[in-house]
Amino acid sequence: VANKHAEIAGAGLVGLSTALLLSNRGWTVRVHEQSPKVREIGAGIALHQGACSVFEHLGLMPEIFEKGIDLDASQALDRTGKVLADRTLSGAYRQVTIPRQTLIRILAEAVEAAGIEIKVNSRALGARASGDLLFANGTTARADLVVGADGFHSAVRDSLNLARRKVKRSNGATRALIEHEKSDGRTVLEEWWGPANRVGILPVAPGLTYVYMSSRESDKRATRTPIEAAYWSSLFPGIDPVIFEKLSEVEGRHDPYPYVKPRAWSAGRVAIVGDALNALPPSLGLGASLGLRNARLMVDAVTQYSEDIPAALQQWERNGRPDTEWIQRWSLFRERLSHNLPAPLATLRSKMLTRSNGFRGWGQRGRSFDEALITGRDSGREGVDAG
Ligand SMILES: Cc1cc2nc3c(=O)[nH]c(=O)nc-3n(C[C@H](O)[C@H](O)[C@H](O)COP(=O)(O)OP(=O)(O)OC[C@H]3O[C@@H](n4cnc5c(N)ncnc54)[C@H](O)[C@@H]3O)c2cc1C
Repeated sequence: VANKHAEIAGAGLVGLSTALLLSNRGWTVRVHEQSPKVREIGAGIALHQGACSVFEHLGLMPEIFEKGIDLDASQALDRTGKVLADRTLSGAYRQVTIPRQTLIRILAEAVEAAGIEIKVNSRALGARASGDLLFANGTTARADLVVGADGFHSAVRDSLNLARRKVKRSNGATRALIEHEKSDGRTVLEEWWGPANRVGILPVAPGLTYVYMSSRESDKRATRTPIEAAYWSSLFPGIDPVIFEKLSEVEGRHDPYPYVKPRAWSAGRVAIVGDALNALPPSLGLGASLGLRNARLMVDAVTQYSEDIPAALQQWERNGRPDTEWIQRWSLFRERLSHNLPAPLATLRSKMLTRSNGFRGWGQRGRSFDEALITGRDSGREGVDAG
């Protein structure tokens, strides 16, 4: 497109990726970040193939592979360490893990190399459907496209009343990084299932392990940070107590799970992407994949129909909504399965995890969630059969 300009609120992983996607298609872009610098919170992240397909398209996967870990397998275990399921991860089911701070730095460097300006200390207050982004310092920027990538609390979304529901769930997770490495050389995401808690243990870089511990928000001993090692060890006797001891010595961070149900995905020239649009409990680990997939579809739509951006955005929503709602529904269901099951049903759940090899919900039209979120022709579909 010639002479089209976008203003983006939010320099998280979806905001920066959207900036790169637009810039690749010939747009000029400026990104506004409210914080004094671009940074990530929340320890590590597992990028499923949907997210990887967008980063591949942006040429960032070689560096992500170099700094992160291409996982061999994903295991489900019960609280004592009995292996309930063991899935090999490849093709459409690949998962690449990386410290969040490393990922955001890779993105910020790519944005800088593309000549895109990131304005820090620039807080958006809201937007107008006509294409104006309004800032806390009283100024306004006008653009052909305004993007609200400003996360769960999105000021851009709320100024246009685009959320039908926006809730913090009654379950949440504590996340932290520890210096730890397993000695057997196999890179595995271990997901330990307790009656109402889950612990994920996964390598994210050589010598570095990311741990998430999820629980009901009402369980005050479980939500406390730094974590209470003895309590978590009693919940998960099969986990090496050294892991919980190391976790109790680092700060960690606890957040309730987010969920956003949008009323509409856009208003006039303003589009919402990422957690601002489709935040979901991370029970399937698909937040980044869903956010990046919808951002990429949005950039395709506004580039292809750049003469009528409001209509392009409405078409984008019609195309993207069904799979988004499907994945959000299953994430809510898997969250309840993890945390809100009556205790006697935990045995049944273990059997189900074994029968379904890790239970990630049922596919639709012959596709799994992971397959549905893979974008673009250069997306690694050739690897789909391998999963
Ligand atoms: C416990 C937990 C575990 C998760 N694990 C995974 C996982 O393993 N894999 C996965 O794919 N996903 C995971 N997710 C989801 C994933 O983290 C999110 O979907 C993703 O980070 C959303 O990125 P974003 O850029 O939309 O939002 P954010 O990362 O929230 O970024 C928003 C940015 O906007 C800035 N901002 C906010 N308001 C304003 C404003 N008014 N003006 C200017 N700037 C503003 C913020 O400072 C921030 O930099 C997890 C989520 C949780 C809660």
